[in-house]
Amino acid sequence: MTLPDSHFRPISGSSLPRFAGPSTFMRLPVVEDPAEVEIALVGLPWDGGTTNRAGARHGPREIRNQSSMMRLVHQASRIAPYDLCRVADLGDVPVNPIDLSDTLQRATDFYHWIHAAGATPITAGGDHLGSLPALRAVASERPVGLIQFDSHSDTNDSYFGEANRFTHGTPFRRGIEDGLLDPNRMIQIGIRGSLYADSDLDYALAQGVRIIEIEEYFDLGVEAVVEEIHRVIGTGPVYTTFDIDVLDPVYAPGTGTPEIGGLSTFEAQQLLRGLRGLNLVGADVMEVSPPFDAGYLTALAGATMLFELLCVTAGAVAERRSG
Ligand code: MN
Ligand code: MN
Repeated sequence: MTLPDSHFRPISGSSLPRFAGPSTFMRLPVVEDPAEVEIALVGLPWDGGTTNRAGARHGPREIRNQSSMMRLVHQASRIAPYDLCRVADLGDVPVNPIDLSDTLQRATDFYHWIHAAGATPITAGGDHLGSLPALRAVASERPVGLIQFDSHSDTNDSYFGEANRFTHGTPFRRGIEDGLLDPNRMIQIGIRGSLYADSDLDYALAQGVRIIEIEEYFDLGVEAVVEEIHRVIGTGPVYTTFDIDVLDPVYAPGTGTPEIGGLSTFEAQQLLRGLRGLNLVGADVMEVSPPFDAGYLTALAGATMLFELLCVTAGAVAERRSG
């Protein structure tokens, strides 16, 4: 793979104003062949797994809009992702808005196609069920670890009866059952909110998942939590999933299942910066629901977290390339 060329750079805000031109992730070109890129930014306009208020199907388009604010170099780390690897907008994952099973199949096929081309996917969702088809692809050779920022564990078994096993509250239980996730290399951060039952987290804990509920998070602080992430994940491949509802609703009201008492945007940024050096094989930002947003606040938070994830992932991709 050759190093990046100017074709894969965002349109400069000095040549075309940030509010003008087509809306793509980070103002990058749209590319149709994943073999041309090392990191594929994709949208997953799907909220058929949502159990409460919907609207995350509109997340990718608004995150694209707000991502026009992202410039070239990360302010704190000075990572310049487009100097490190080839990144482009690969468009949206194909979905069927009236059929959950068909959507899962289409999305799974799409992520396999990205993965087979050697590209690392970074997704803007969409509800959290959308992480499952991405995991099916990036974990197709062996189980991966998972870093999950979320108010919710999303390890429930079923919803509205045992037949319904695929919702945004179940993807990581399915991931463990299907051997996509190594539960001993899973860490969930920010868990809070009222429970269905005292036993809600029993399954995940019994599997060996490290759960940092919000009280422990605030006791430990950012630095110690980052250390714990590195301890749990080690050097193996790991997928990062960022449910926007891990943020306090004052920072991110536009989401399906808001829970008060959460992370600030800056805390979340610091945590994501702490992922530098891990073997990151894919990531997503999920559950941004523009119909419930205020002043594009949640979509801007989503776009910024996407840029944070892009920067640390670009480092990992460059590391793997150089062996
Ligand atoms: Mn959640
Ligand atoms: Mn979630």
